[in-house]
Amino acid sequence: MTVPGRRTHYRHCHLCEAMCGIAIELHGDRITAIRGDDDDPFSQGHVCPKAVAIADIHDDPDRLRRPVVREGKRGDPDARWREVSWDEALDRAARGFIEVRRSYGRDAVATYAGNPAAHNAGAILFGLPLILGLGTRHRYSALSVDVLPRLVASWFAFGNQALIPIPDIDRTSFLLILGANPAVSNGSVMTAPGASRRIRAIRDRGGRVVVIDPRRTETAALADRHHFIRPGADALLLLGILHVIVDEGLARPGRLAAFTTGTDEVRRLALRFPPARVAEATGIDAAAIATLARDFARAPTAVCYGRVGTCNQENGTVASWLIDVLHVLTGNLDRAGGAMFPTPPIDPVPAAARFGQAGSLGSFHSRVRGLPEFGGELPAAAMAEELESDLPGRPRALLTVAGNPVLSLPNGARLERALGRLDHFVAVDIYRNETTRWADVILPPMSPLHQDAYPLAMSTLAVRHVARFAPPAITPPPDGKGDWEILLELATRLGTGRLPGGRMLGRALAWAGRKLGPRGLIDLGLRTGPHRGLSVRRLLRAPHGLDLGPLQPRLPRALATPGRRVRLAPAACLDEVRRLEASLDAGEVSRRAGELVLVSRRQLRSNNSWMHNSRRLVKGPERCTLLICDEDATARGIADGDRVVIRSRTGEVEAPAAVSVEMMPGVVCLPHGWGHGRPGTDLSVASERPGVSVNDVTDDGFVDTISGNAALSGVPVTVEPAVVATMEPTAASARA
Ligand code: SF4
Repeated sequence: MTVPGRRTHYRHCHLCEAMCGIAIELHGDRITAIRGDDDDPFSQGHVCPKAVAIADIHDDPDRLRRPVVREGKRGDPDARWREVSWDEALDRAARGFIEVRRSYGRDAVATYAGNPAAHNAGAILFGLPLILGLGTRHRYSALSVDVLPRLVASWFAFGNQALIPIPDIDRTSFLLILGANPAVSNGSVMTAPGASRRIRAIRDRGGRVVVIDPRRTETAALADRHHFIRPGADALLLLGILHVIVDEGLARPGRLAAFTTGTDEVRRLALRFPPARVAEATGIDAAAIATLARDFARAPTAVCYGRVGTCNQENGTVASWLIDVLHVLTGNLDRAGGAMFPTPPIDPVPAAARFGQAGSLGSFHSRVRGLPEFGGELPAAAMAEELESDLPGRPRALLTVAGNPVLSLPNGARLERALGRLDHFVAVDIYRNETTRWADVILPPMSPLHQDAYPLAMSTLAVRHVARFAPPAITPPPDGKGDWEILLELATRLGTGRLPGGRMLGRALAWAGRKLGPRGLIDLGLRTGPHRGLSVRRLLRAPHGLDLGPLQPRLPRALATPGRRVRLAPAACLDEVRRLEASLDAGEVSRRAGELVLVSRRQLRSNNSWMHNSRRLVKGPERCTLLICDEDATARGIADGDRVVIRSRTGEVEAPAAVSVEMMPGVVCLPHGWGHGRPGTDLSVASERPGVSVNDVTDDGFVDTISGNAALSGVPVTVEPAVVATMEPTAASARA
């Protein structure tokens, strides 16, 4: 029976990469319930506990509804914030950038884009042209604390950073997981809602799952086998595996051989790393490495899924590249059950090439440390020192879009201090958080539920071809603006079309915004995309989404390299392996007695730094705990629940210890995204349960040697019991 005023709205969940289908129950414009959409052919009803927090964020009284400007000194926790009209806010925002640019040049404006921007098609379609149009070299984003090594490896091997091989998890018979926890993440750079179900299905059909991780994760609990590995040793493990495959004649590239170059170089390279040579450094014994190699190579189909742990380490690009090498040598690249290139409804590969974003490395470098750009963007680990340094070209103004770099970047406390040096700071954000509290102007987009929903980026990473589009779930407020409108209005005021390098983009942006908006652009992309017959209108008639079938082989046609070849032996990686080999011989990558290194973890009821203002997600026992194994805890006189101090080169934090069998000896683990205790924020729930920021002890000087991606895994730390302050006896207690 239909109840008047009640309705169900279907869309995808925009909170993480899994893009689960959700059904939102509404009474008028009030959300009464959120559940999984059982009829979504891709997610089949799966949702995680975060889905319901969409309502919490939408209804959150702390969420900014109107633009605000700060009155008073930057960084003053007692500064007053004043709501202003959109015109006043946008004029003030643009005026500051124009003045800085006029006085100091275009590189004086820096930009930073956070992860949530990737979940909003309007922010992608209008944010990237605005940022490119600004023409600054100080472009940063969360990509370089996340996936940059994978993108660099793709550019090296396949000629376009958007050509990313995705595990064909639903058809594989052997899944090797390195530094990833899909049972919690539901896949990252592998959109796989209900990942636990998909992993169990591999075993149900007779396949095998092996997890390699310094923590016995939730995913490891689903696997046939788990091995601990020393953080930062993934490249050595992969070299040991490749050695066995080459040495025992198990390499069978099959049809890939016809369009692959560099196979002989990588074979020769692999032969230098027998398992016995890498065993101590990896923490995995030689026999286990050999067994793993044989099992992978002999499986009917096999795929290796390496993710955040593999990328966020000193050899992140080499490890990502070696995963490609493993797939090529075993014939598992571009075949069902292996690592495949999706053909999404709107294919980013040609767009990346057209807008000069296919890839580039080192065409310029950061001023202070000389870290290389990739695709025109500098590594975010360089951001704090670039804001600090008075060398010519210092950024004096900053635009952030959906980012909280104070909590997301290594040595966040240093970045926070550097924000105080800015002349002008504008944030496009829904919260006054640990970063945006430093802004002069905050421009808040409407809730995603007030906007169209199309998973533009995530569709490109999905383990199956799918398409869905939804209109706004809730009537937009009359004075609200979507992310794209804010970015377009800012671009218009900044005249990015008149900037050198931004001319064509600026004009295209203004035209597209006026004529089409994001919905029109998406419609154009669908109609001209690789799947025939798609359009926004067709997707609106299919509210649960359309299944467009399994991934299909795309090589060699999709390759963007000269002559359409897989380039398997990039010089940068070969050189880096030589350096790694020298470190191995010098014993620099083996564990020193008593040493501890830090890794981070993702939690099911958390997503980076921006989900902690939902009471139902943060309730329950303290979750920002340091996991430490019994042996390491006992050696330091630490008992379960004790407060401990974690110290590194860059800082120290204090957290409760959780003594855990999950942890490898020598490795401790803090979750990321916490640290909400800073003054001057407006996150009332998060500040009640602040936790500590892992990035107050990670190190901005510790990066992937090729890409400059932050090496957040394997940071050397010390851990000791916190000194408990003894209280002076009060008069009452003295009497007692
Ligand atoms: S797994 Fe991700 S997409 Fe799915 S419900 Fe949870 S947060 Fe949303």
